[in-house]
Formats: sequence, C-alpha cells, structure tokens
Amino acid sequence: MGAEANRDIKSLTLKELQNWILETGEKAYRAKQLYEWMHVKLARNYDEMGNIPKALKEKCEAAFDYTALKAIKVQESQIDGTKKFLFELPDGNMVESVWMRYKHGNSVCISSQVGCRMGCSFCASTLNGWERNLLPSEMLEQIYAITLLTGERVSNVVVMGTGEPLDNYDNLLRFIELLTDENGLHISQRNVTVSTCGIVPNMRRLAQEKLQITLALSLHAATDEKRRKLMPIANTYSLDELIEACAYYFKQTGRRITFEYSLISGVNDTKEDVRELTDLIGGLNCHINLIPVNPIKERDFKQPDRAAAESFKNKLEKNGINVTIRREMGRDIDGACGQLRRKYIAGQS
Ligand code: SAH
Repeated sequence: MGAEANRDIKSLTLKELQNWILETGEKAYRAKQLYEWMHVKLARNYDEMGNIPKALKEKCEAAFDYTALKAIKVQESQIDGTKKFLFELPDGNMVESVWMRYKHGNSVCISSQVGCRMGCSFCASTLNGWERNLLPSEMLEQIYAITLLTGERVSNVVVMGTGEPLDNYDNLLRFIELLTDENGLHISQRNVTVSTCGIVPNMRRLAQEKLQITLALSLHAATDEKRRKLMPIANTYSLDELIEACAYYFKQTGRRITFEYSLISGVNDTKEDVRELTDLIGGLNCHINLIPVNPIKERDFKQPDRAAAESFKNKLEKNGINVTIRREMGRDIDGACGQLRRKYIAGQS
C-alpha cells in the first residue's frame, strides 16, 4: 500500500480498520460500524454517522483523510439516458466517469488515473499527459457518488475510463477487493471488467491473483507494425507476448478474454485486417468488441460507416470469431475517454 492509501480511511480493508480500532483502544465492533457507514450507507462525512461516538470520529479525523468526491458537472444524453460525471478530487484534480443503463442493470465506467501516460494516438485522455494515480477510495467514490446521485444500484463496473489500470496495479487490486467485499457494496467479481492497453508483466501478475474479473485487452491492430503506429506500448511488448499473456490469463482464471478493437476508417478496417486478426486470435477462447472510433478533434481519425463496420463484423464471424459491435452510448455528451475533463480544463465548458 502506498503511503497515501495508508492515511485514507476509505482505502482500508475491514481487517486493517479492525486492527487500527483495536490499537487505539476502541471496541472491535466499531470497525464494522465505520466500514458500513463508508461502504454500504455511503456516508459523505463523519457527521452522518449517527451511532459513532464523537471521540472516535475525532480520532479518525486526526489519523486519516476522508475521501468523498464532489460532482461538479453532470451531462445527460438525450439519446439514451447515459450520464457523464465530472468529479473533483480532494486535491483539486478532476476525473470523469460514465453511468449507463442496460437491460441487465446499471453500469459505471470509472477512471483509474488522473490523465494517462500511455499516449495512444486516438485517445483524448492522454493528450494532457499523466498527473497521478487514483487511490482505491477515489475509484470507489466514483461509484458511490453516482449511486447516491442517481438513486439506483450499480451492478457492473468497468475500469475503462481515463488512465491505464495496470499502471496503477496495487491501488487497482485494493479497489477490486473493497468493491467486491461482502461487507461493502458486494459487487460480484464477474461483473467487473478491467481494460488494459497491454502491460504484459502486470497482465501475468493479475492472472496469478486468480480473480473472476474480465480482462479486456485494447488490441486495435493485428500486426506489430500497425499497432506501434497507434499505441506506443506496442514498442515495449510484441503481439506474440501479448497473446501469450492472454492465453495465460484464460488458463489461470478460466475467464474468456475480451478484445477491444476501435475501428478507424482506412486504418484498421480492411479485408487484410480481417485476415490478420483471424490469424492472431482465431485460436483463442475470446470475444472481440468492435468500437467505431469516437473522433476527437485533435486527431484526424474517421469512423467507418455502419455498413463498413457490419461488413467487418460479418467477415470475422465467418471466420469463426465471436464478435459484437459495441452500442455507442452518450455520443452527444463527449462520450469518448477524457473529452469532458479536457474540455473543462481548457475552459470551454
Ligand atoms: N488504458 C486502458 C483503459 C482506458 S481506454 C486501455 O487502454 O484499455 C478504454 C478503451 O477505449 C480502450 O480500448 C481504448 O483504446 C478505447 N478508446 C480510447 N479512445 C477512444 C476513441 N476516441 N474511440 C474509440 N475508442 C477509444
């Protein structure tokens, strides 16, 4: 645990909170009460905690920070009801999160870092560089604050917002532990997806944790040469290493990998791409999600039209690959990663 997470009461596991409570000479059951206020009743501050004695609240305040995010902007899509939230962190930085309503429940897409240092050419989150990692509590709070603001339960969490989750490994793992804890919100591991641009050593580490979460890999190209043009991380890890790590993840966890493939017109949506993609992943137990690229104004990438995307999908299907085209949500509200925060920072909002 980083020094900061140590000082952050919402980033502590119940066990750690119990240890601290006992060290301070309080009764053991107080830990469970505090934990419940934070992670089930989603208290915004100590004032709400009716059954906690004032003296204990004061001890907590002296020992820890209490992280609660403030929504400073909410945009709602007129097309599909998707909501995008801009949150202010305790240090004044900002992150964005997206709430989507599906038939099977509500899903929240959270950020894992302030900014990103991965440099993918089509992504708005990386344009201003990387600021810092998010604490476990700051990842949880995106879900807690949204639950309170919408008044509805969240059933699925995807770590697909700004940032590279496997570049913030320890805090990510602690976040998953707290999120899926039966004493907290108790979201099932199977309803959590972590998306990575492909940091191979940490994909292997994650496989060894043997969690039941879904790992999504941002592939976007089926040859090293093409991938390097879109994603700098491809200079560090080859597709061979990446695919081996995916197979290892499946072997360790039994969880099928999801590949994400942003379709960019004329760049990675040709017949040749279909063939190369089939050669690359045809033998894996996987699923591929096609995402028509969300054009950002800083870059000249174009979305293929519906017919071209369908044709790409059909060809892959004929080759025996499980494939879907992701339904686009919140198109009218700066749906693409990092667009809202960027706009806000630039003072255009
Ligand atoms: N760093 C992680 C998670 C954040 S990005 C990762 O790379 O997976 C979530 C997904 O959105 C990734 O697949 C990313 O490549 C994709 N993405 C980013 N910008 C996009 C855009 N403008 N259009 C379509 N997909 C985009």
